[in-house]
Amino acid sequence: MKKSTDEEEAPAAEGFRERVRRIAHELLESRRLEVFGQLRFEVVDIEDLALIKGNRIYISMKAKDFPDGVLKYIIAHELAHLAVKRHTKRFWETVGMIYPGYKEHMEEMKRLLNKE
Ligand SMILES: [Zn+2]
Repeated sequence: MKKSTDEEEAPAAEGFRERVRRIAHELLESRRLEVFGQLRFEVVDIEDLALIKGNRIYISMKAKDFPDGVLKYIIAHELAHLAVKRHTKRFWETVGMIYPGYKEHMEEMKRLLNKE
């Protein structure tokens, strides 16, 4: 049986949240990044593509139609912020450690955003 949630969600949001969780799981199970505590992933209507607050990672519904590789980059980026706050050299090294080959998908994301 399906677990019920507090609030009813549109099927699109629910499907997207499942996809976000699956991709996050793929990144985390590689154990390239050690995470303490339980992370929560939520899909929300926000202006930014993604943001992290404490152990909660919010992904914008705007990213819903992005391909898996791009979504994986967005999640890897937020996960890297668990270790490094600002976009320093060490930050990008951390993103690369979590998701080798992220650059190509970051470029793809920029192309998709410019198309809007
Ligand atoms: Zn960032």
